[in-house]
Amino acid sequence: MSYINEKLDYIISQNPNETEFHQAVSEVFQYLGPVIEKNPEYKKYNIIERICEPDRQIKFRISWVDDSGNVQVNRGYRVQFNNAIGPYKGGLRFHPTVNTSIMKFLGFEQVFKNALTGLPIGGGKGGSDFDPKGKSDREIMSFCQSFMTELFHHIGPDTDVPAGDIGVGAKEIGFLFGQYKRLKNAYQGVLTGKSINYGGCLARKEATGYGLLYFVDEMLRQNNISLKDKTVCISGAGNVAIYAAEKAISLGAKVLTMSDSSGYIFDPMGIDIDLVKEVKENQRKRIHEYINVRTNAKYFSGKFEWNIPCDIALPCATQNELDEKSALNLLKNGVTAVAEGANMPCTPEAIKLFLDNNILFGPAKAANAGGVSVSAIEMSQNSVRQVYSFEEVDSKLKNIMSNIFEKISTVSTEYSLNKNYLAGANIAGFIKVADAMIAQGVV
Ligand code: GLU
Repeated sequence: MSYINEKLDYIISQNPNETEFHQAVSEVFQYLGPVIEKNPEYKKYNIIERICEPDRQIKFRISWVDDSGNVQVNRGYRVQFNNAIGPYKGGLRFHPTVNTSIMKFLGFEQVFKNALTGLPIGGGKGGSDFDPKGKSDREIMSFCQSFMTELFHHIGPDTDVPAGDIGVGAKEIGFLFGQYKRLKNAYQGVLTGKSINYGGCLARKEATGYGLLYFVDEMLRQNNISLKDKTVCISGAGNVAIYAAEKAISLGAKVLTMSDSSGYIFDPMGIDIDLVKEVKENQRKRIHEYINVRTNAKYFSGKFEWNIPCDIALPCATQNELDEKSALNLLKNGVTAVAEGANMPCTPEAIKLFLDNNILFGPAKAANAGGVSVSAIEMSQNSVRQVYSFEEVDSKLKNIMSNIFEKISTVSTEYSLNKNYLAGANIAGFIKVADAMIAQGVV
């Protein structure tokens, strides 16, 4: 058995039942054979095992009182995965599916994603099985205050800087920040994704979606394809999906679909993004409301199976949403490119189909790194007590995304895996973190 496979078996046996974590580790490991061969130091310093073990995992109880006066209990997490490159950095996810495996897969991914940005940020992730859906603002505030009352012991602007993820937006970040400030009596850049009027960064909200499109544009251009007039299917209707759609439209593409956990909309005339924003951001309603206004659009309830013909597919909802069956639908309909806006949205079987059929594939670690990149800009802005304009941040973001593409493309060629951007991202991210770990000794 190869060195890498032996290590993979060992890591799986040490972390039983953590299927999403196994999936994320396997995705990186499949490309590491030649990397280890070329750099025997990684073996000598047992980087493979060290990089898969989080520096620290915190798990805690969150008690809070709902509007009926009942005491509720949830579970909170923060996985501080690796700080070889900078303070732990990564979002908080509030969703009923949150568990140790999900937290660890997200934390692991974040380490390499953050490394690819070229900015000084390590990787971490956190969250809770709390479901913000249907909760009043007072309930969300009560939960967030209780969550932070434990979390504040473990974070800090030079230690660990959380942000948002699924279920955590500017509102939740505000409640968390207010409680941190009260407990510490310190006004620090300890969270990113804050509102603009108290230290937030312009373009942070748009960053993941815009960044995804800058990446896709770069990937297409390097392959002599233009985004203009292409059809795009997007899943999700959260922050990532909305701003991916907005940027795709502004770059001349036509967006056909968006979805939520109940169903999806298909607008053959092209999605009206202002209407989506009105439904999702202002009214905070479900996506099917869209067809009440755009009567030529259709709503289908149930899982979106990517069965609408398109040139470009952008899964922007959640992990493992795009499976083998969906991938076959996309292939049958002649898809050209797929890029991951969510974290690990394509199953390994789906990815294999894309790569085997020479579909341009932009992996999450690279393609959705725009959000955390602008978070790092927010951190630096807070440190120097400065504010950058929207245009400044947007142009930095564009630059970062094109550097990421350039880097992973070069590395894929170096390892004779030309145009396999998944390989390029995993190898480039790994090497950066591994080299920093070796330089800092056995810690
Ligand atoms: N949750 C986002 C991600 O998956 C952003 C993290 C951050 O801004 O720290 O990368």
